[in-house]
Amino acid sequence: MDEFSFINTIKQGRYNQPSLVRGIGDDAAVFRTQEDVVTAVDTFVEGVHFSKKTMSPYQTGYRALAANLSDLAAMGARPVFYLVSIVIPKIWKLNELEEIFHGMRALARNHHMDLIGGDTVSGSELSISITVIGYVDQDMARFRHTAKPGDHVFVTGTLGDARAGLHLLTEDRECDYKNVAFFKKRHQMPTPRLEFALKLADIDRVTLNDVSDGIANEANEIAEASNVCLTLYDKEIPTSEDFGQFSLKMQHEWKYFGGEDFELLGTVAEKNWNSLVKAAKDSGVQLTKIGFVTNTNNEPAVFVIENDTKARLDKKGYTHLK
Ligand code: ADP
Ligand code: MG
Repeated sequence: MDEFSFINTIKQGRYNQPSLVRGIGDDAAVFRTQEDVVTAVDTFVEGVHFSKKTMSPYQTGYRALAANLSDLAAMGARPVFYLVSIVIPKIWKLNELEEIFHGMRALARNHHMDLIGGDTVSGSELSISITVIGYVDQDMARFRHTAKPGDHVFVTGTLGDARAGLHLLTEDRECDYKNVAFFKKRHQMPTPRLEFALKLADIDRVTLNDVSDGIANEANEIAEASNVCLTLYDKEIPTSEDFGQFSLKMQHEWKYFGGEDFELLGTVAEKNWNSLVKAAKDSGVQLTKIGFVTNTNNEPAVFVIENDTKARLDKKGYTHLK
């Protein structure tokens, strides 16, 4: 099959978005809007970001788009379009490639997104690069630099599950763990928290960052961008029901540094807390208050309080304070 017929198999029969002027089939796509346009791109390379051993082609496509949509959620944007640049090695079969696009389409359809372009080339490793485009009301995009002293720190969902799933898929296949399918699914098909983020539209200020590298990393990014300190309570960090079956060392490592849960970490003023709770309830998402924001003494930082001791939480590690 040549490139032209391949593009025909992945092309949508009809488009959902009224702002689209021209989709696949020209030298470039065209859309028209009054809103602010939010865009992001992410690249997934076989062997680096995913492998056939841990994910089906369908899940690979689904997950690649989910990671991008999580970035749009963290910006408070409504997803509308995506473009896919794919590098295809000869050993990948046509039906596997179609499955990658089916996985993306399944998630895209849930959000009424249209595939409006891309690029198809051959090469030695499978690589999928997805560009997403979203809209947000003018000046309503959510940033990392807006956290203020007095804010609550919150997180959606539970943390560490995706990393636990990866562990079960790669290192601990034989052991007798509970709820294995749940953990694997959290790694293979994560849920970007778009609905929750979009329900915050009435709140004037909410700081958001999505959890792609672990909350230690994301909390430090908020602290640095906002020039504040974040203090988290270890016992409030939400984990799933069967997370306790893993060793304490793993639990600790995975909930702070595991990443790829694609939950939202953020801060919000006390006066808006009830609106946040309502947004979580209406979108069926767990919401947990895990800490608070203060002024910096000399530099932005993240602290964790555990059993009455306070430790500094760096992006990649944990240093106990003297
Ligand atoms: P050009 O040579 O003008 O860059 P192409 O022949 O590469 O155009 O692509 C033709 C059309 O197919 C374009 O609209 C392009 O955006 C679309 N397209 C190509 N590859 C993909 C892909 N992997 N996913 C989605 N659309 C694609
Ligand atoms: Mg051209």
